Amino acid sequence: MTPNKEDYLKMIFELGGDTALISNKQIVAGLSVSAASVSEMITKLVEQHYVTHTPYQGIKLTASGQQKAAMLVRNHRLWEVFLVQSLGYPVDAIHQEAEKLEHATTGEMADRLAAMLGEPHYCPHGGVIPDADGHYIDQSRVALAECTPGTKGHIERVVDEAAVIDYIFALGLHIEDHFTVVDNDAKAVTIHQTETGRDLVVDRVRAQHIFVELKA
Ligand SMILES: [Zn+2]
Repeated sequence: MTPNKEDYLKMIFELGGDTALISNKQIVAGLSVSAASVSEMITKLVEQHYVTHTPYQGIKLTASGQQKAAMLVRNHRLWEVFLVQSLGYPVDAIHQEAEKLEHATTGEMADRLAAMLGEPHYCPHGGVIPDADGHYIDQSRVALAECTPGTKGHIERVVDEAAVIDYIFALGLHIEDHFTVVDNDAKAVTIHQTETGRDLVVDRVRAQHIFVELKA
């Protein structure tokens, strides 16, 4: 399935484009699309005033782009919580279902869903759920890819994309897992997983989509 405009807005939001400039390259990796497709979509999003694009510097959400992205993320993640809590879905099977439901969700439906679920703050992948006004708790912007050997911390969230979620599940890595970085080179980041005592080799591209909370 080709990612649509809404998927791009969500990805830019998740990569930190609400407060910082992000690159085309980051979006290419996040959505597994070509650089040409990203350029084409960014041009459209600029025309619609959802993002600003400063050549050679990066892309950032405008206030209206941020609001729109926050609502899409809210819908997606409320459905994820519902699928796990109310329908008993396993955590690794909810992303695609939520992806379909989010596009058919009205504001009122999301508000009723949130109330029924007890106003949850996080999705099962550690992602923050914005409130009905689009406000949200700020989350970690430190990617595992940036961590040097010896760094200790835990996994706070991953980018809400099927490829990323499937990757960490296949690897045996979970939200909240603790780790110590063993090695960080051009290809991968190797971490020692405290819970299992195993060393896990995390592909460098994926490590850019795994956000961590460092131990002080
Ligand atoms: Zn999620």
